Amino acid sequence: MRGLLVGRMQPVHEGHIEVIKRILEDVDEVIIGIGSAQLSHTVKDPFTAGERVMMLTKALTEYNISASKYYIIPIQDVVCNSVWVAHVKMITPPFNKVYTGNSLVKQLFKESGYQVTVPPLYNREVYSGTEVRKRMLEGKEWESLVPKSVLEVIKEIEGISRIKNLSVKEVNEQIN
Ligand code: NAD
Repeated sequence: MRGLLVGRMQPVHEGHIEVIKRILEDVDEVIIGIGSAQLSHTVKDPFTAGERVMMLTKALTEYNISASKYYIIPIQDVVCNSVWVAHVKMITPPFNKVYTGNSLVKQLFKESGYQVTVPPLYNREVYSGTEVRKRMLEGKEWESLVPKSVLEVIKEIEGISRIKNLSVKEVNEQIN
């Protein structure tokens, strides 16, 4: 049995790792789709698909999850939601089950006949990409919300100065 989880993972946080561990109690292998792979360098989507692959690979190693248990596949968005499932199927290994807390993802896979499971949420108030990015911008403590290896990747790519620079409006934006 193979399961699919798709997430933007901007950035990878402890909630993602918990949900991946939970999925692997259910299925033999998990396909982890890095969603919105074409996006990067914005406040909402600061990290490239490659950087997110690096974060996830290192975090799964840190948590002793064997590389034989997962596939990490970057997935670009498509304009039409109605053809997204076909697009995902085209670029991923075959899977039997879908895991998601995202209502659009759930709806689209259900309509395509997949069994969809909504995994329990782990500390969602703080284990959320939005919360991690907010704390990064405000200079608050965010480090405990992500695996240590993700922290190292963000340091390596100078992610904090990137997100802070991206949040500064251009002079013409400030006037308008
Ligand atoms: P996300 O990174 O916020 O979450 C990924 C998964 O992890 C979700 O299922 C979420 O429920 C789970 N999760 C997150 N925090 C958790 C926690 N604390 N505890 C337990 N589980 C937790 O990403 P997302 O927004 O769900 O990503 C969906 C992706 O699918 C996006 O990139 C979106 O663009 C893409 N998508 C694209 C199309 C299209 O191109 N037309 C259509 C649908 C979805």
